[in-house]
Amino acid sequence: MTQEEQEKLTQQAMENAKKARPTPETQEKDVKQKEVVMTVPTVPTPVKPSTEPKIKKLLDNQRKLGDRIVTLSPWAGKTKKKFKKEFQYAEDMNDIDLQKIVEILVYDHIKEDYQLTEYELQYLLSELKEMSIGGDIDCEVSCKNCNSKNKIKSTIKKAGKFTPDTLPAEYNGWSFTNIKRSEFIKAKYDITSLPTFDDLSSDLDIEVACKVSKDNKSAKEMLDLIDETPIKELSEVMDKYVDHLASYTLTEDKVCSGCGMKTSFDLDIITGIFKILAK
Ligand SMILES: [Zn+2]
Repeated sequence: MTQEEQEKLTQQAMENAKKARPTPETQEKDVKQKEVVMTVPTVPTPVKPSTEPKIKKLLDNQRKLGDRIVTLSPWAGKTKKKFKKEFQYAEDMNDIDLQKIVEILVYDHIKEDYQLTEYELQYLLSELKEMSIGGDIDCEVSCKNCNSKNKIKSTIKKAGKFTPDTLPAEYNGWSFTNIKRSEFIKAKYDITSLPTFDDLSSDLDIEVACKVSKDNKSAKEMLDLIDETPIKELSEVMDKYVDHLASYTLTEDKVCSGCGMKTSFDLDIITGIFKILAK
């Protein structure tokens, strides 16, 4: 049906409806003929094609990080092998290198080439855990007030809260962008293979450098520029950047069994993962 035909039909339907409306003259007659029901043909309103971009529906294995979408693949046998090899001799949490965990459990399972911030990594680690081995959390956490241990059972869905943020376009001539992880690592180490985890975790500027650019510089040029930039200017840019970081918390509010105070407990996601992947 063309738009013209539809408009014509709509007009006709409106006229029919007008005729059907009781006027003082027909009202008396209507009372006697109550059982006669007038049906007004309904014509669908023509839908204008929207100029707005369609909001892309996320797939089950996709998550939104501010202005980016990441595609996740669950942990597999290979993941367990790598994890076990790396952590089988770990005695406690002090032996654990979080960088190694995020490399094996998060970066290996993300399709896109993104350098992620600490909170984004925590969020995606939680989501991947839920997707791969279930979202149950069963841990023992110390109370912030009295230090007594509390056993807490929860789930990632209930306890996890991710607040994504979109970086501002620019600040004082510096633009905030998403430099690719592969590009950044190559620029930083000037090698084609991955640097060691210790190299990565010791770099304080890693998050900032991969997210901040100036005059369309490459990752390599950016790292050189950061080395030459006065600390005062650099810290202003860093503050601005940090203000807009996404945040992630995995907490449960509970009355402490030791002191009886209502406390917000930070839950431990790693323990549950160890129980399954390191055995
Ligand atoms: Zn307490």
